[in-house]
Amino acid sequence: MRAALLEESGPIESSPLKLRDVPDPVPGEREVRVRVACCAICRTDLHIIEADLAPAKRPVIPGHQVIGAVDQLGRGCTRFKTGDRVGIAWLRHTCGQCRFCTSGRENLCPSSQYTGYHADGGFAEFAVVHEDFAYAIPKQFDDVHASPLLCAGIIGYRAMLRSGVRDGETLAIFGFGSSAHVIAQIAKRRRRCDLYVVSRSRSHQRLARELGAAWVGDDATKMPHPPQAAIVFAPAGEVVLPALACLDRGGAVALAGIHMSPIPSIDYDRYLFQERDIHPVTANTREDGRRLLDEASAAAVVPHVKTYGLGQANEALADLKHGRIDGTGVLVV
Ligand SMILES: [Zn+2]
Ligand SMILES: [Zn+2]
Repeated sequence: MRAALLEESGPIESSPLKLRDVPDPVPGEREVRVRVACCAICRTDLHIIEADLAPAKRPVIPGHQVIGAVDQLGRGCTRFKTGDRVGIAWLRHTCGQCRFCTSGRENLCPSSQYTGYHADGGFAEFAVVHEDFAYAIPKQFDDVHASPLLCAGIIGYRAMLRSGVRDGETLAIFGFGSSAHVIAQIAKRRRRCDLYVVSRSRSHQRLARELGAAWVGDDATKMPHPPQAAIVFAPAGEVVLPALACLDRGGAVALAGIHMSPIPSIDYDRYLFQERDIHPVTANTREDGRRLLDEASAAAVVPHVKTYGLGQANEALADLKHGRIDGTGVLVV
């Protein structure tokens, strides 16, 4: 099969992904093989390619927002049949036995493994996954519009939960990329939240307005009222301070990124007193994934997508890195 393979890390501008012919994967016990239709790109792919995350497997096929049809079943599969449409997301293995797995917190399992990082992902014609970690995809989404839900959507959803925002409250969003533009639609339509969006990008600001944000700007001190909750999607630690400072008493900032530059020192009186809190997000549980797909369906979420061919993977990720995508970039295989 053809795959965009990462053999050696490097800046995305040096085109580290190489289009190669590699053997088709063979599904193991209780694994399904998926003929990939498309795979959305994510900032985590960039962190893997540029080695901001310590390399786990080389060479590796990145990509963890995979949509496709099951084309082969490994021994013992019972959940899906060939032809079923499924999604493969970031979380692909947990032990099922540790204190985190047995208390609804499998996102913290020390043995967790991730697609496109520990195992090959979806920048390829085929990908495999254990059937228990595949998602059934709601019919209302076509392939290209379903794929951003699988990480942008799921992680954004967990970040929204971690922010503690309640129905009808104001949610501030710092950085308005792929994840933010999906979860903004859910927060507004399902939780009746007012949205305040902080972004320096004019085109991201425009998209936020189109999606009904109540206030959009580049300076959080100009918000009309203190929001009750905030989510930082920007991978920049210095953004955490204005996010804390803008909050109402008792509010929390969820940090959605898997990687962030250092957070500057935090003055207790100014940023944390009055029980303002910081809630990092680490991966997700499968339950988060199922709930997100239900919520996205009920909210009739429409991700804004920009499509690329598999051979344009480097270009797509460079566009993501430099803020040239409004919404989500999707590789159509
Ligand atoms: Zn575990
Ligand atoms: Zn991701």
